[in-house]
Amino acid sequence: MKKPIFGCGWKMYLSDNEAIAHAEALKSKVSREDQVELYVLPSFTAIRDVKRILDDTDINVGAQNMCWEDKGAYTGEVSARSLKELGIKYVEIGHSERREFFGETDETCNKKLKEALKYDMAPVFCIGEKADEKEKGLTKEVMQRQIYVAVQDIAFKDAKKIIYAYEPVWAIGKDDAADPEYVEDVQKYIRKLLAELYPSSDQGTEFKVVYGGSVSLKNVSELVQKPNIDGVFVGRSSLDASSYKKILEIIKNDFR
Ligand code: PEP
Repeated sequence: MKKPIFGCGWKMYLSDNEAIAHAEALKSKVSREDQVELYVLPSFTAIRDVKRILDDTDINVGAQNMCWEDKGAYTGEVSARSLKELGIKYVEIGHSERREFFGETDETCNKKLKEALKYDMAPVFCIGEKADEKEKGLTKEVMQRQIYVAVQDIAFKDAKKIIYAYEPVWAIGKDDAADPEYVEDVQKYIRKLLAELYPSSDQGTEFKVVYGGSVSLKNVSELVQKPNIDGVFVGRSSLDASSYKKILEIIKNDFR
């Protein structure tokens, strides 16, 4: 049976001191946890401290972005090589905010995915359609483009290490998540696309596909009961340690 995944992106919500305090609060609520794969993604500057605090728990720490190059004249960027030196395993790639505000494209996602995999990291690769694309009925077309370009020249053994985070852009930062039936349908399609690209796959069942976008205490149960939802990627609702712990308990009890 698959282990459910509970990942959290802290975006730029927390300062370093706030991130440290939040990590301490999480540590007081969660220590050993072998039923759920856990990771949190703080800002770059907080990674070392947050990792030190969470090191003797089962909450992994990762980064929210990285450069596709190993080193060189790339002012302001952070390499996978540096992240690896910090001992982290997870790195987020292609979040819609990075695509919208910082020029991330399907092609840069492909370069970053290859670089992260070269350093044996687990990329959390975000995909999702915008509101107007959904209205025009283009969701599946967008999924196909984003996935086909991003995994180009990536072997099956590496493609399986990626966590595919389906995050419809119109559902991020809202009052409620996308309808679980809708998410299930799109995530089933994502699995089908991956199975087509990787014919040695067992109908896409080995791929990790999670949902993100306004996940909260009120909707997480229904989401994780769906057969094609392997877990959740959470922003705001993960910033309170009590809510984090409650979401974790729901995932443990209700995951299909
Ligand atoms: C996100 O942006 O990845 C996200 C899931 O945020 P929120 O849960 O706050 O909608």
